[in-house]
Amino acid sequence: MREQLLHLENIARQLEPNADQRSQARKPVIDYSEDFLDNVDSLNAFNQSIDKGAGLLNSPISETGISIEEAIELLRTNVDTPGLNPASGGHLGYIPGGGIYFAALGDYLADVFNRYAGVFYASPGAVRMENMLIRWMCELVGYGPRSHGNLTTSGSLANMIAIVTARDGKGITSAKVPRSVIYLSKQTHHSVAKAIKVAGLAECPVRYIELDGCYKMRADDLAAQIEKDKASGLTPFLVVGSAGTTDVGAIDPLVEIGEIAERYDLWYHIDAAYGGSFILTDEGREKLRGLEMADSLIIDPHKGLFLPYGLGVVLVKNVEHLQGSYSFQANYMQDAFETPDEISPAEISPELTKHFRGLRLWLPLKLHGVAPFRACLEEKLLLAKYFHQEVQKLGFESKVEPELSVVTYRYVPSSGDPDEFNKRLLEAVVADGRVFISSTMLDGNFTLRFACLSFRTHLETVEMLLSVLKTSVETLIGK
Ligand SMILES: *Cc1c(COP(=O)(O)O)cnc(C)c1O
Repeated sequence: MREQLLHLENIARQLEPNADQRSQARKPVIDYSEDFLDNVDSLNAFNQSIDKGAGLLNSPISETGISIEEAIELLRTNVDTPGLNPASGGHLGYIPGGGIYFAALGDYLADVFNRYAGVFYASPGAVRMENMLIRWMCELVGYGPRSHGNLTTSGSLANMIAIVTARDGKGITSAKVPRSVIYLSKQTHHSVAKAIKVAGLAECPVRYIELDGCYKMRADDLAAQIEKDKASGLTPFLVVGSAGTTDVGAIDPLVEIGEIAERYDLWYHIDAAYGGSFILTDEGREKLRGLEMADSLIIDPHKGLFLPYGLGVVLVKNVEHLQGSYSFQANYMQDAFETPDEISPAEISPELTKHFRGLRLWLPLKLHGVAPFRACLEEKLLLAKYFHQEVQKLGFESKVEPELSVVTYRYVPSSGDPDEFNKRLLEAVVADGRVFISSTMLDGNFTLRFACLSFRTHLETVEMLLSVLKTSVETLIGK
């Protein structure tokens, strides 16, 4: 048996590369990423490709390894080239992502040390760090000392945690589901609908509240709907406001909705996945007044704090609600939940073992300080105003004043189908590849979107988009 153990050990020890081997693997990785970072401003925001990364499949998972050089080559051709380049400042579609470098170093350290951030007993420092970040955000939104939250992988999961908490907080057991009414708007992000379904609330009646001319939920219609539902014997249960809709960047009337939620005793959830981070700016703080009225809300640092993908946050006004939904005990965990210094993520979230994802937020915040984040967000607000102004000078229609950093616009040609024209315009811009834009349907019209949230998007990026739009329009109308 000893011989067999030593034999296996010999092979298993390959999983622990020595200093030389680590350095040999690290150098090409650093070179590859440095080359990318040095050139990211000149790389396309979108690359059309024929095989769409299928070459990866020619190198199946097998018993023996390949060299780091071969691995990087597979990544370069199959992963890091085709499709959207979310690290590009030219990414002006959907809601752009980030990828600040110090977050990558945070992930690197989190992975090497692999501290277990789920339970205070196991890693008091890691849990303190995550809780400290959560408290920082709670204070930013104006939540009091009873609030808490959880760092999640994304806004969608943050919404899911919140909707389950709302369900339990309001005691919506399955028998009550068919009579418990949920109020959304047509602009509510689809991850909320998904969360409702996953939370077992698909059979709740859902009311889509009317929008005003700026695509914001109409508070008067919300109140009227609630009255109507109460009159017919239903129980209004949950209202979801958006603080920065994905589509147009609109902020629902947060204070008015909050007052209505309080009057009728509804759970008030705000989806601030996209817009929440703007609270760091003076303009944003003013526009986001009412956020503090929510029973729960979500923010996506992998959007508005420019982090690489993989970080959302759910905040809940009263931590007891999170505990009510997520606190469990197990015999094999009996040593772990004894110290009261800090609440552990595992006690107030669906996760147990989890990535120490706080470090990817803490490190950049500590190294940069908050000031550059604030400036970058202010810059984005101003770039949206600038684009809104300049795109109209090119003859585009852009009716709604941007509230945050999304602008909707379309070109109405003197003849022909405007929808078809704008579709072809979008295709031309994406085929050019230097900037990437996306579209939506507004009031039945095919509409282009300018969504500005990458930390790499600056004035020259917007000038480039304007120039690509100008030449594409000229080509399409045959000037
Ligand atoms: C992006 C977004 C979500 C979903 O967040 P993910 O991090 O993509 O899962 C939810 N709501 C709004 C308003 C969003 O913009």
